[in-house]
Amino acid sequence: MKTAILGAGVSGLALARFLIDGGLDASDVTLFEAAPVAGGLCESKTVEGFTYDTSGGHILFSKDTAAMQWMIDQTGGNDAYAKRDRNTKIRFDDKWVHYPFENGLGDLPEQANFDCLKGYVEAWHAREKDGTTAPADFASWIRWRFGDGIAEHFMDPYNEKIWKRPLKDITSSWVAGRVPDAPIEDVLRASIGIRTEGYSHQAIFYYPKQGGFQHITDALAAGLASRIRLNTRVESVRKEADGWTVNGESFDCVVNTIALNLVPDIVEEVPADVAIAMRGLAYNSITTYLLALDRAEHPNLSWVYFPQKKQGPANRITYMSNYADSNAPEGKTSFLCEVTNRPDQHCEAEVEGQVVDGMVASGLMRKEELLFTHQSWHRFAYIVYDHELDSRRKTALDWCESSGLIALGRFGHYDYHNSDQCVIAARETSIQLLKQAVRG
Ligand SMILES: Cc1cc2nc3c(=O)[nH]c(=O)nc-3n(C[C@H](O)[C@H](O)[C@H](O)COP(=O)(O)OP(=O)(O)OC[C@H]3O[C@@H](n4cnc5c(N)ncnc54)[C@H](O)[C@@H]3O)c2cc1C
Repeated sequence: MKTAILGAGVSGLALARFLIDGGLDASDVTLFEAAPVAGGLCESKTVEGFTYDTSGGHILFSKDTAAMQWMIDQTGGNDAYAKRDRNTKIRFDDKWVHYPFENGLGDLPEQANFDCLKGYVEAWHAREKDGTTAPADFASWIRWRFGDGIAEHFMDPYNEKIWKRPLKDITSSWVAGRVPDAPIEDVLRASIGIRTEGYSHQAIFYYPKQGGFQHITDALAAGLASRIRLNTRVESVRKEADGWTVNGESFDCVVNTIALNLVPDIVEEVPADVAIAMRGLAYNSITTYLLALDRAEHPNLSWVYFPQKKQGPANRITYMSNYADSNAPEGKTSFLCEVTNRPDQHCEAEVEGQVVDGMVASGLMRKEELLFTHQSWHRFAYIVYDHELDSRRKTALDWCESSGLIALGRFGHYDYHNSDQCVIAARETSIQLLKQAVRG
């Protein structure tokens, strides 16, 4: 069964591996990749000895231990990975606040602690007493769930930095299941300074010792080298009576991991209403800034959230040099700042200076320590859960299914997936395809 896989990010690469390991002849699998290297959002770059993940700091973690072990085994085994304790904080004025925020209220300045506790108790009381259901929009949901104090001091400004649009334009559905309720007793304890942990679903994570997160896709790609066509943009996909053509070449089946938004530009004869739905799927782009520092040590932190405007445009930084020793030269350190953009937009030139100034103002570095900065940009970074997302996504995926175009990947299937979930979805897709191949 000749199979074309569009895109050689982790989804496409993992699928190719599962298909071949499952018995499909390697010569029947072809990956088309527009970029000069495989990897997509898992890309890393090394500049003057400093390595960073270009779409934002990545960690390897999964609730599906089999999927995670598969990723590790396929990419050099346990010895190729550093095992790290997740240690994340929120920066608030000059303080480190325990994460999640509601479990760190006691770390806040007194007035902010009081505002947050008061709001949390009021919101809890209203929910318990009135039995109100979760509001559909994110702005109201934040207040319903956390109260006014946490909304004003943390959730509103932090989320405005990430989503770059009014929070009422985003739904609460994507977040509702993701943010477990902290018991009120824990929040009360936290507020008076008794440490409570909160959810800790990434207590330990893995990171490649060499090559940044891209080590994973490099290693997957190495085993598939002859099957990947790099620098090969998919321009046209056409359904034929007995299969498909991709750039004029015949295949029995096509798996698409390219963003659904681009499908109408690539696939012929997408109906007009489906094309509108696909093009309307909301997303944000991302600009990342590596700050390479002449500084020997950082706090022992993994990543840090920056909710405050005065901290500059970055919403999160990752201590890349804490992830792997090879991520910075001996005696130097680095961190990576993430700034989201409205779709397709790049940061203005002055944003870089604002990012650096924000970090200096937050007490994370001194300006004299900065050796250089390096920046990257990715067009499709965050899925944005606006109120139309579900219906557009359904229209898009229903059409893919009815026409036999298999959808896979973070933007190919429009799921808020991390790389491990991409691998899990690829594994499931391979099972279906291998069954199909056996049936002939
Ligand atoms: C800020 C941020 C933080 C993240 N943190 C983590 C984390 O800590 N851990 C984790 O596991 N995951 C994390 N992720 C998610 C992870 O990066 C993605 O889930 C994963 O990389 C998506 O892989 P994919 O193959 O589905 O898509 P992509 O990586 O987007 O791959 C699609 C591929 O298609 C190619 N392509 C596009 N158009 C064409 C065309 N016309 N022709 C040919 N090829 C084309 C692209 O070049 C790309 O290589 C994070 C993502 C972001 C944005």
